[in-house]
Amino acid sequence: MSEPVIVIGAGVIGAAIAHRLAGAGSDVTVIDAGLAAGAASGRSFGWINASFHLDEHHFHLRLAGMEAHRRLAAELGPMGPQWPGALSWEEGGAAQEKMAEGLRALGYPVRLIGRDEIARLEPALRAVPEAALVLPSEGVCDLAVMTRALLSRAAAHGARLCLGVPVREIVTRGGRVAGVAVEGGVIAAQRVVVAAGTGAEDLLRPLGQALPMLRRPAVILRSAPIDARLNHILVTPGMELRQEPDGRVLAPASPNHQGDATAELAEPAAALADKAFERLRRLLPEVGATWQEATFAMRPVPGDQFPVMGAGKVPGLYIAVMHSGATLAALVGELAAREIAGRGDAPELRPYRPGRFD
Ligand SMILES: Cc1cc2nc3c(=O)[nH]c(=O)nc-3n(C[C@H](O)[C@H](O)[C@H](O)COP(=O)(O)OP(=O)(O)OC[C@H]3O[C@@H](n4cnc5c(N)ncnc54)[C@H](O)[C@@H]3O)c2cc1C
Repeated sequence: MSEPVIVIGAGVIGAAIAHRLAGAGSDVTVIDAGLAAGAASGRSFGWINASFHLDEHHFHLRLAGMEAHRRLAAELGPMGPQWPGALSWEEGGAAQEKMAEGLRALGYPVRLIGRDEIARLEPALRAVPEAALVLPSEGVCDLAVMTRALLSRAAAHGARLCLGVPVREIVTRGGRVAGVAVEGGVIAAQRVVVAAGTGAEDLLRPLGQALPMLRRPAVILRSAPIDARLNHILVTPGMELRQEPDGRVLAPASPNHQGDATAELAEPAAALADKAFERLRRLLPEVGATWQEATFAMRPVPGDQFPVMGAGKVPGLYIAVMHSGATLAALVGELAAREIAGRGDAPELRPYRPGRFD
């Protein structure tokens, strides 16, 4: 066994890293203040895509994320993603064609289709648009299920999971990481991975490691299970939605949730869910009279919105914090484990190093 590694955070990112590290023979302990997938990972929309990207490098990172999911699928089976593809009519007319052209130029599979084909692909839709983009390679994942599956595979390789244990401080000695302070004392480790989502900024500040996070509250609603089937992830001007295997329809309350820049909720979660549900009913009357569940979460969005991944200032420290964790988790697990174990730097992570906030 190599030097002990502590991973702070049992969300999908910490779980993916622990899974790869433990699988490669590392001595891993995952510590979480709450339960596995108790924060963003248990409250996510879970859309895996590269069509939403901030620049070309970010597109290629997301594409690599999709490919890594397919590699991991061989191990996770039904606990990993499904690949129904997306149907998008977020933008109308010329903007939609421009988006299709841009994605085609990047080599991304995309097709522009008309009203009849949309109605055939999604017979449950009440409001059928004139045109939409089909993005056939995109997928969805229940991140809570995937997180638990990754943690149980890590455990099968000897990893330990400590839940309900807040890390108070990352401890250093002689200028390098020496462990973490928790109630009752210090757990020693030569390496600490911060995969703590929105909790990362506070953990890193005392080490002089800046990681400014944006405040991004979000609400997701779920309908009752319905008999009608949605065959794709739907990206519409009013909202994004998809169906879970038990028939419930899941939708973020904010239109265009991936790019949502709301820092404070304008209304209580239940009121936002009411409004979003009205938009949902206009698309899909089968959802019934009211929503069943509204879940609030803080999305872990770094200050410049890009992922933060790599070694920290203090030797022994590694950081992995990002939004789009559904898209990137499988890739992050592979690359972080390689870098933490000293098996070479991942060139695809160069633009995303933590030092950019210094
Ligand atoms: C509403 C919503 C919709 C989303 N939709 C998408 C989407 O469609 N596609 C996509 O790719 N991404 C999406 N995301 C983002 C994605 O879910 C996240 O990027 C991902 O879940 C982050 O995983 P994580 O493990 O980094 O963080 P989390 O799941 O937040 O896990 C971090 C863990 O660290 C623990 N922790 C924090 N501080 C401490 C401490 N001091 N001590 C011990 N433990 C600590 C927390 O308890 C928590 O369990 C969405 C997120 C939300 C909230």
